[in-house]
Amino acid sequence: MELLSLCMPEIEDIKSAVVIIPFGSIEEHGPHLPLGTDALTAIALTQAVGQKTNALVAPPVYYGVCRSTKEHAGTISITPDALRTLTRAIIEGFVFQGFKRFVLFSGHAGSLHMAALKEVGEELVDREAVERMAICSILDLIDEGLGLETKNDSHAGELETSLMLYLHPEWVKGGAKEDYPHFPSHLLVKEKKKYWPSGIWGNPEVATREKGKQFFVYLVEKLARIVEQVKEQ
Ligand SMILES: [Zn+2]
Repeated sequence: MELLSLCMPEIEDIKSAVVIIPFGSIEEHGPHLPLGTDALTAIALTQAVGQKTNALVAPPVYYGVCRSTKEHAGTISITPDALRTLTRAIIEGFVFQGFKRFVLFSGHAGSLHMAALKEVGEELVDREAVERMAICSILDLIDEGLGLETKNDSHAGELETSLMLYLHPEWVKGGAKEDYPHFPSHLLVKEKKKYWPSGIWGNPEVATREKGKQFFVYLVEKLARIVEQVKEQ
């Protein structure tokens, strides 16, 4: 079920449904993938999972916290504070309406971004404002079974390029070379682009549309299992 498609009387009967909120980012994804890649994959995955599990899929939060790519062209990053405030307000809005179970799923997996979502989740669970909640990113769903060729593939590489070739081939602009960031370990640096000019973390060269379909089906299955866990009494 998609929240945007429902009318007032329909809401009354589904208060026990799990609410899935997709999160994205507006972020560079190399020279070949659109800025909306994270949101677009999160929307597609959560819609498929919503159909499979009868969960209620909320409209996405398009903006996210992008620590490493803030300087790259097109990235529009918000602060962890802003994301925490918005996420808390959205969930409290659902709670006010009688919903109690939530899955926050993010197509963007930045560490500060995920930390902001988890902080809000922990706080809501702690004060029993929600009954049950799960939070995960697309990278949390990766395991051996997914069948990725590239180890350590995480941004605009094999996984995301394949998914976009499957979901939105019209928005994939050619290809890009395998690359990885070279940030100094432990040291925080301001000029992050200097250490990661390509904005690619993985190997888009081995991405295909067929793999995209296979990855999509696998990820839907894994996310659906998490939704089922949140549903359990
Ligand atoms: Zn991404």
